[in-house]
Amino acid sequence: MDFTYPPEAEAFRKELRAWLEANVPAFADIGAGSGLNAEGETLERLHEWNHLLADAGYAAISWPVEYGGRGAGTMEQVVFTEEMHRAGAPPTLNPIGLSNIAPSIIHFGTEEQKRRFLPAMLRGDDIWCQGFSEPEAGSDLASLKCSAVRDGDVYVVNGQKTWNTLGHMANWCELLVRTDPSVSKHKGISCLLVDMTLPGIEVRPLTTITREPDFNEIFFTDVRVPVGALLGPEHEGWRVAMTTLTYERGGVAALHLSLRSKIRGLLDEAKATVVDADGRTAAQDPVIRQKLAQVYLEGELLKLVSDRAISGALHGRDLGPEGSVAKLVWSETEQHVGETAGDVLGTEANQGKWGRDRVYMRSYTIAGGTTQVNKNILAQRILGLPRH
Ligand SMILES: Cc1cc2nc3c(=O)[nH]c(=O)nc-3n(C[C@H](O)[C@H](O)[C@H](O)COP(=O)(O)OP(=O)(O)OC[C@H]3O[C@@H](n4cnc5c(N)ncnc54)[C@H](O)[C@@H]3O)c2cc1C
Repeated sequence: MDFTYPPEAEAFRKELRAWLEANVPAFADIGAGSGLNAEGETLERLHEWNHLLADAGYAAISWPVEYGGRGAGTMEQVVFTEEMHRAGAPPTLNPIGLSNIAPSIIHFGTEEQKRRFLPAMLRGDDIWCQGFSEPEAGSDLASLKCSAVRDGDVYVVNGQKTWNTLGHMANWCELLVRTDPSVSKHKGISCLLVDMTLPGIEVRPLTTITREPDFNEIFFTDVRVPVGALLGPEHEGWRVAMTTLTYERGGVAALHLSLRSKIRGLLDEAKATVVDADGRTAAQDPVIRQKLAQVYLEGELLKLVSDRAISGALHGRDLGPEGSVAKLVWSETEQHVGETAGDVLGTEANQGKWGRDRVYMRSYTIAGGTTQVNKNILAQRILGLPRH
């Protein structure tokens, strides 16, 4: 791990920090929380924020300039993430589109698809969801059954997807379909960019245990999708899917910033919370101290994992399985932090911000590839262990 912030990245930091200081205060009421369930006035304000970011060239700085990005290098991207976090900037409206789906469109899309989709995605005018998982195809994604049969200049799509984050808000979907059932399961898959307003698409929201309408089921009945919606070659959707998933897992590397500030907040709470009749605080309790030290070290480990990925990128290494390591460490540490908050705050930890967090964070070891699946990737691709 050998990187420093070059002068260009520091110049970019100065410019960005000034812009954020001038613009974020007007959106202080929204804050840096998730935009997944925004509605009404908050949704409108998030649209406003996304337009502002896009007009200033800050909505997707790593993208090529011709599609609205800045062609920013690795260290500028690191600086960008740090400064957005520092400023408490509101979230993007279109996290799945920008982080996971856009890289696949940039890599596999035709020029027409790039020009049609990327600028609208960047501004949050089009919201995207990912239609990968099915009731019988999650970890074993290649078993997916949702079918697309060619009929002249359209594909006729039939089947069901599930757990689609933002499906209730999205007007576009990156959809994995089976276009050739006669070949081995990884080979007959294609990827379609589907207009969610087409007849025959029904979105049914699923409400989570936190009572938020986070994700959805999507049903496709004889949906006629133009052949121009194909992303990448027909029957080679697996490659497109892997590109999307690599970015989904890799994006998690940036999360050490929010995780480590959560840990710092918990340490402060531990110093202020009295846990016994002698007036000792949670931070003075020998057992809780051990747990606090453990999550602190895990947070620092995640920073090192992230730094290693950054260093690799600077040396021209593809993200690859490092994304799985970051995803694994981040998701497990989030849960350990939640459990430790319970030790520090007792029943108080079941209310307010911690209450929501401690339930929601159970999903982190499932979404974007479960812990077990990421461990399999790590075992095979990093440790070189046999499949069985
Ligand atoms: C918050 C959240 C958001 C999501 N958003 C989306 C989305 O936007 N779009 C989308 O398409 N999907 C989405 N998903 C779905 C997610 O990708 C799947 O839940 C995930 O891939 C696991 O699939 P599954 O739920 O079918 O579990 P299963 O695959 O049935 O797994 C069940 C259990 O078996 C274990 N397991 C399975 N296979 C193996 C193996 N080979 N070795 C060891 N253990 C194994 C798993 O680790 C897990 O513990 C989301 C999920 C969550 C929780």
